[in-house]
Amino acid sequence: MSDVPVQRSAALKNVRRIVVKVGSALLTDPVAGLSRNKIADYSAQLSELMTRGYEVVLVSSGAVAEGCKRLGWRIRPETVHELQAAAAVGQMGLAQAYESELSAHDRGTAMIMLTHEDLADRERYLNARATLGQLLELGVVPVINENDTVATDEIRFGDNDTLAALVTNLLAADLLVILTDVDGLMDRDPRHQDGAERVTTAAAADTSLDQLASGGSGELGRGGMVTKLRAARLAARSGAHTVIASGLVTDSLLDAVDGADIGTLLVADMTPMTARKRWIAGQLRARGDLQLDAGAARAVKDRGVSLLAVGVQAVSGQFHRGDVVRILDPDGVVVAQGLSNYSSEDVARLKGVRSEDFAEHIAYVGEPELVHRDNLVLM
Ligand code: GLU
Repeated sequence: MSDVPVQRSAALKNVRRIVVKVGSALLTDPVAGLSRNKIADYSAQLSELMTRGYEVVLVSSGAVAEGCKRLGWRIRPETVHELQAAAAVGQMGLAQAYESELSAHDRGTAMIMLTHEDLADRERYLNARATLGQLLELGVVPVINENDTVATDEIRFGDNDTLAALVTNLLAADLLVILTDVDGLMDRDPRHQDGAERVTTAAAADTSLDQLASGGSGELGRGGMVTKLRAARLAARSGAHTVIASGLVTDSLLDAVDGADIGTLLVADMTPMTARKRWIAGQLRARGDLQLDAGAARAVKDRGVSLLAVGVQAVSGQFHRGDVVRILDPDGVVVAQGLSNYSSEDVARLKGVRSEDFAEHIAYVGEPELVHRDNLVLM
């Protein structure tokens, strides 16, 4: 197992945007429901991170356990529909608890229910990204949980780890912190072998970790180390590092972000742009073409700027917001490919129009760019 020779604090030096995932095991008790003390503790740490200048997004479970308590169920039900009902009831309590604990620190909160499918769909993905980006700009803490009413991945697989990783990709966050009830990834199974030691730092892509994750964590099934390692690899795809650490240790979130030697740091081995742009360039099919005037084509090609409608001369193909389009120079040569913020119908109305005049041409004005430079790959 190759330890990566990096100083933690150096690896985390440029971190600004953080997704924090907290699992049910840390927050709830089967009989007592949500632990307000734990929620107060994590809220205080999140608020402290914001004071230090970080942007934070929280992915939190805990609804099912709280719902069971509120419904007077002393044991976790077995059927998916009962679990879904408990989640819906308990979600009220979860939202309430974060709202009041974070407001004690003068932080606003927002509740967002998502499914994996929401993020696989390009249009919903862009909408979720715009909303979350807006919330961060407003200094509000988004609290995300799986939408258990319509999806049951977390109920069945304990899979808010994956959701947190997808949110990390969505927001191009720099760091994913997964707080759990074990100290991190262990180099051997502590239940069967003496002297098991925590893996302090490794590359997320290191394949020798797979064996450790499946055998060594002491957790089985739901939300175990396998899903955490997979989540770290997903996060690495957009350039984010992941720390898996115990949420039972005082101030572990602050320490994890500080680069203290706790938990396991899984280092992303790709830079965010390369990963994201590789994804745009490689995985999707273009649905339409935008032909630019010479000035706009040069600006996109030489300066990597966002594509504005004012530089578009012609549009062809049928596409929706979030679809991949090719970007052509006046000679028809493909210069770039990217994700369109507007449908082909809208682009037909907006071509040649300045961003500030969009409202005169279409009903719903979103982003000022047709293709944001983060979603644009030069070809
Ligand atoms: N998303 C659910 C929750 O917040 C699922 C967790 C579980 O299955 O216990 O409670």
